[in-house]
Amino acid sequence: MKNLDKDVFKLIQKEEKRQIVGVELIASENYVSDSVLSAAGSILTNKYAEGYPNKRYYGGCEIIDEIETLAIQRLQLLFNAEYVNVQPHSGSQANASVYLACLNPGDKILGFDLSHGGHLTHGSPVNFSGQLYQTSFYGVSKDTGTIDYNAMRLTALKEKPKMIICGASAYSRDWDYEFFRNVADEIGATLLADISHPAGLIAKGLLKDPLHFCHIITSTTHKTLRGPRGGVIMMGKDYENPFGYKNKKGDKKMMSTILNSAVFPGSQGGPLEHIIAAKAVAFREAMQDHFFEYMMQVKKNANHLANNLLDLGYDIVSGGTDNHSLLIDLRSKEITGKDAEFALGQAHITVNKNMVPFDDKSPFITSGIRIGTPAITTRGLIEEDIDLITKYIDESIFLFRNKKSFNSLSKKVNETMKKFPIFKY
Ligand SMILES: *Cc1c(COP(=O)(O)O)cnc(C)c1O
Repeated sequence: MKNLDKDVFKLIQKEEKRQIVGVELIASENYVSDSVLSAAGSILTNKYAEGYPNKRYYGGCEIIDEIETLAIQRLQLLFNAEYVNVQPHSGSQANASVYLACLNPGDKILGFDLSHGGHLTHGSPVNFSGQLYQTSFYGVSKDTGTIDYNAMRLTALKEKPKMIICGASAYSRDWDYEFFRNVADEIGATLLADISHPAGLIAKGLLKDPLHFCHIITSTTHKTLRGPRGGVIMMGKDYENPFGYKNKKGDKKMMSTILNSAVFPGSQGGPLEHIIAAKAVAFREAMQDHFFEYMMQVKKNANHLANNLLDLGYDIVSGGTDNHSLLIDLRSKEITGKDAEFALGQAHITVNKNMVPFDDKSPFITSGIRIGTPAITTRGLIEEDIDLITKYIDESIFLFRNKKSFNSLSKKVNETMKKFPIFKY
C-alpha cells in the first residue's frame, strides 16, 4: 500500500534516516517507542467520538471509551491527579481550553516573558493569547539568570491579573510553585502551571511537584514524557469555580466540568482517539522503573553537557541546569544563534537558535541556542558519549568560524550515532 504514494513514503524514509544518523538536541523532541508509534498509526484514526467516555455524540464508541478511560486512569496515577483531560490536540490547545474556561476576552494574564524562555501561548502578541487577553510579563534577573520572584510579585500586585502562568520552553531551573501560589492567593488569581517541557521529570519526582500548589496544570505529551504529539490538562484537586465564569444562573460548577466543556465543545471537535491510545501507551511506559532510570540519565546528561561547555568557556544562562535543557549564551563566543544552529546543522547536530534573556538580537538571529538531552538519552547515550557530543559541538563552531569543510566531522557524527538505535522499547 505504501507503494501507491511513493512521493510521501520516500520522504518519510528520508526523514527516518535523518533521525537515525543525526544528533537530536532539540529540547522539545524525543523518540517514541514502537508501541506508541503503532497506536498512533492505528485504525483508531477512523473513529469519531465527540464527547467523553459514556457521554458521546456518536454510536460505536464502546471500545473507544475503554481506550480513553485507560488513558485517563493511567495519567491520574502517573501524576496523582484527581482530574485529567486527555483530549487536547496539542499543548497550545490545552492552554487555549484553560483560558476559555477561566477567562473572558480582555481579562488580564501574567506570564513568563517569551524572550526569557516563555512560550508563545503565555501572552505573546503574535499568539491568540496576546490578542484576546491583556498581558503582562515577569522574567529573570540579569545577574543570576533565574526568575526574579519579587519582581514577579510586584507586577502581579500592580496588574492584578486574573490568571498567573508559570512554566517555560527554555528555562533550565526548577520553579518555586509555592511562591507563585501565595502571590496568586494575594490577588485571587488562578494559577496555571504549563509543564510541557519537564513533565516527565515531574512525574518521576525529579523536580518540584506543581500539582500541590497550582490550580490547573497543562502539558504536552511528546517532550520529556515521550508520548505522541498532544496535550493534556490536569488538576491535583478539583475545586468549585470561585469566579462564577459561565455560570450565568449563579449555580456553582466544579472546575472539572468547566474544563471539560472548554475542551469539547468549547475549543475542539472530535478527539484524536489514535493519539489518545498512544498517550495511554506512553503513560504506562512512564509509570515503569525504566522510565525513572531514563529521566535520571536525561538530567545527568544535561548537567554533564553544561559542565563540559562551561569548561570550554561557553556561557550557560543561570550557570547550569536542574532539568533536561540548557540555554547557551553565545555572545562571548562571538557567533549568533542563527549561525550556530547552521554550523551544528552542517555536522548533523540539530538544535534551535533561541533568544537569551536581555538579548540584543532579533528572534530571527538570536544570541543563543537551546539544547536538550531527552532524545539522545532515549537512544542510550550516557556521560562518556556526551563528552564526544561536546567535542562535536565545539568543533562545528570552530569549523564555521574558520570556513572549513564539515565533511569529516559529519561522517564522524553519523558513525557515532549509528551505534544507537532509535526505537528501543
Ligand atoms: C511546547 C510547549 C507548548 C505547546 O505545545 P504544542 O504541542 O507545540 O502546541 C506549550 N507550552 C510550553 C511551555 C511548551 O514548551
